[in-house]
Amino acid sequence: MLNLIIFGPPGAGKGTQSERLIENYGLCHISTGDLFRWHTKNDTELGQKVKEIMDSGQLVSDDITIAMLKEEVEKNPDAKGFLFDGFPRTVDQAKALDNLMESMGTKIHSVIELKVTEEEVRQRIAKRKELENRVDDASDKLDRRISEYFNKTVHVLPYYEDQGRLSTVNGIGDIDDISKEIDKTVSALEV
Ligand code: AMP
Repeated sequence: MLNLIIFGPPGAGKGTQSERLIENYGLCHISTGDLFRWHTKNDTELGQKVKEIMDSGQLVSDDITIAMLKEEVEKNPDAKGFLFDGFPRTVDQAKALDNLMESMGTKIHSVIELKVTEEEVRQRIAKRKELENRVDDASDKLDRRISEYFNKTVHVLPYYEDQGRLSTVNGIGDIDDISKEIDKTVSALEV
């Protein structure tokens, strides 16, 4: 099994690079943001619980997020591996994910951090907003989501770095070049 985490602020290019990783390595993609959006769109019990907090650009509680993540992993017992996207965002989530992987006899092999500056991210999201009109990219919530990443979420990275599981890739530049860099990193992993 090959289990990876793609990490970076909103607008870093995680979606594009995830698609390529899924295709190249046959990974099962689990995006907690997509799952939460599905629940709110379909007005499930969970969706009703998290809607307000998502709309404000804040993080959903660890308990709710970890439970949803576990359930999704367990739905895919035959997966060749997983690509986690948008998770973990706290050290407690990272530890819960390690425990889950261990219980399955596997582990997180690497965290691929797409390194992008705050300024670049703001410019990219402004462009994407014009094209997609995503509700949670509305400018009043945008600041919150970006701040959340640069002030809080990044603190997960040292957890992986200390264990030699962090691979940082420059996320600014040509999309194909970034993909090649990620590919090189993944190919070098001992699986
Ligand atoms: P994303 O598309 O990954 O930016 O996620 C959209 C929203 O879903 C976030 O702003 C949070 O409210 C919520 N969310 C997604 N993943 C997590 C997570 N790992 N922990 C807590 N909240 C999350």
